[in-house]
Amino acid sequence: MSNRLEHVSAGFAIASITGCASLKGLTTEETLAKTLGMLAGSFVGSRTPDWIEPPVGFNHWGPAHSRRMAGVLALYVGALAPIVNDELAATSRACFEWDRELASQGRPFLANVCWLLGLLFQGLAGFAQAFPVAYATHLGMDQATRKSDLPW
Ligand SMILES: [Zn+2]
Repeated sequence: MSNRLEHVSAGFAIASITGCASLKGLTTEETLAKTLGMLAGSFVGSRTPDWIEPPVGFNHWGPAHSRRMAGVLALYVGALAPIVNDELAATSRACFEWDRELASQGRPFLANVCWLLGLLFQGLAGFAQAFPVAYATHLGMDQATRKSDLPW
């Protein structure tokens, strides 16, 4: 049976592999923000199933660990995730454009707010990209557990 560290490590590894291509073409600060978002998304995604249904008995395999949930995740990753990622990335780019425009108008405070929002939306894109992948990795690892290996 996989423990927390194995779930988090596997979730991060798989989310990193699947997320690397999306870092192409980003600036250094965008890459950092998206990587941090992916790190947070992979941690939260790999832990969420057990936060909802702690592994303390057979109810560990409730709705949050079900094949239906795996199907919902697959549907999200296949159909919605690219749209969500594009929207968050476009919003981030718009914030960075406003940042440059406001800075050129001599309005540094608002420019900095827009710059921070740009980083936030890039981080959210990373989170939204890594979360379902790490969650699905958790489900896959739990499916591989034999009932005879369970501690209860
Ligand atoms: Zn679990």
